[in-house]
Amino acid sequence: MNLQKLILTNNACYKAGNTITPKGIMVHSTGANNPKLSRYVNPDDGLLGPNLYNNHWNQATPDGRKVCVHAFIGKLKDGSIATYQTLPWNHQGWHSGGDANNTHISFEICEDGLVDPVYLRAVFNEAVELCVHLCKLYNLNETQIICHSEGYKKGIATNHADVMHWFPKHGESMDTFRAAVKKALAASAPTPAPALLTREECQAIIQSKCNFSHPQDVWVAIETHRFADELYRRLAAAMLPIYT
Ligand SMILES: [Zn+2]
Repeated sequence: MNLQKLILTNNACYKAGNTITPKGIMVHSTGANNPKLSRYVNPDDGLLGPNLYNNHWNQATPDGRKVCVHAFIGKLKDGSIATYQTLPWNHQGWHSGGDANNTHISFEICEDGLVDPVYLRAVFNEAVELCVHLCKLYNLNETQIICHSEGYKKGIATNHADVMHWFPKHGESMDTFRAAVKKALAASAPTPAPALLTREECQAIIQSKCNFSHPQDVWVAIETHRFADELYRRLAAAMLPIYT
């Protein structure tokens, strides 16, 4: 993932300043044939390229609408894929037209003509990586990821088709997307710490090292060492005034 940050501070959503506790992630796509990030993210940081028509989302109401998402995925000026974070992750976004605004982190995937499998594969993988990143940040998992059209079915978003009007054209769906996130999360999970040894395992190890004839001798030896150690320390403390 090529994660960049350019917060849309002129957007009325940002200025509203409301925060949420993220409980899920909502995947959107833009519904317009323009894969360039510069269409939405501005000003040009040298990577994005210019926005020629002043229709970006770093203004109060882009295209006259009260909209803003937490991130965009699309093409940089050089044609490579990147993710731009455009709101703090715990900011309230204006993306669903429903209650999902109060619970879900949102991102838009910039659409192309929906027929290029190479572009779909690239943004699909980028979106998986973004979701893995967000799941780790907010202790979420793949079951808490939905797209806009699924949000509508749940009654928490308006009636939009994204992204299920696009992914299935390339053999993908939100189910395969969630499966990919699940797999990536598992692959990146830290290796669990080795389990602590049981009393019996300790005893077996010490007995094998020390060759005690009776298992109980192990514990007698440990207690004896502990007693001797304490005795040495007391003795040393008592001797100290003599030598100083
Ligand atoms: Zn949407």
